[in-house]
Amino acid sequence: MSMKIEHDFHIHTGLSSCAMDKENATLEKYLENAREYGLKKLGFADHLWDSAIEGAPRWYYPQNVDHVLPLKEKLRVAKANGLLDEENKIQMYFGCEAEYDYAHRDVALTEAAAEQFDFVIVPNSHTHIVMPKEYYKPYQKHADFMLQAYEDIINSKVSRYITAMAHPFQAVCCPYPYGELIDLITDDQFKRLFDRTAEKGIAFEINMAGVSRRTDEEIEKLPQIRLFRLAKECGCKFIFGSDSHDIQPHRLYHRAEFVAHLLELKESDLAEIAR
Ligand SMILES: [Zn+2]
Ligand SMILES: [Zn+2]
Repeated sequence: MSMKIEHDFHIHTGLSSCAMDKENATLEKYLENAREYGLKKLGFADHLWDSAIEGAPRWYYPQNVDHVLPLKEKLRVAKANGLLDEENKIQMYFGCEAEYDYAHRDVALTEAAAEQFDFVIVPNSHTHIVMPKEYYKPYQKHADFMLQAYEDIINSKVSRYITAMAHPFQAVCCPYPYGELIDLITDDQFKRLFDRTAEKGIAFEINMAGVSRRTDEEIEKLPQIRLFRLAKECGCKFIFGSDSHDIQPHRLYHRAEFVAHLLELKESDLAEIAR
């Protein structure tokens, strides 16, 4: 028996610069879609760099806490007005995808800001934004950067607010296949980090972007599957995310069920918030 995945804790709305021009990246559309596809928990995670922390890359302007707070208010009003029809029982969460701050070797989020969110996800793999360009080669430098970023994130002063590592080690917009970077890292190196991740109660995201459209055979061969298996072995919990920038990805979100089946995940392997 496989488990149906009814949660999605990685949804971008038009508040994220990369989804700004997507007319369907709205709370209303996502809700409508969730009803259609049987999703029960929606977690909104717009990009964020807390302006209380200096050094935001240019791309982050204006994506700070004040910029995303209107969504929190919108969710509150929607709940208060009973817009979330009872029969569908869709729960919504106000979260963010906070950035890794390489200069301070920490997460670009203060505790005060973190308190504002229902959940926080943090990537160690937005290397296209936060990594110095000269680290792209040799590949080892790029892999080492992500290892360092991962460690910094789990050791962060805000680590207790971190719900999950977003698309771990899947270098975004990498000019070569990110799998080559994953191949450079040994099981032992991963396990050392994943043991700590499990200890800290930080979940491991299974990001469905770039997965849903693939066949079962292709999914089995994806480089991140090795990471998921190692993370599971270390006792990490999991959380699924579509990384939607539009409502389209939810049409194929049922493919998450195959990944859960492949990894033999049970309800107890999911992060508490996602159960
Ligand atoms: Zn991301
Ligand atoms: Zn994202």
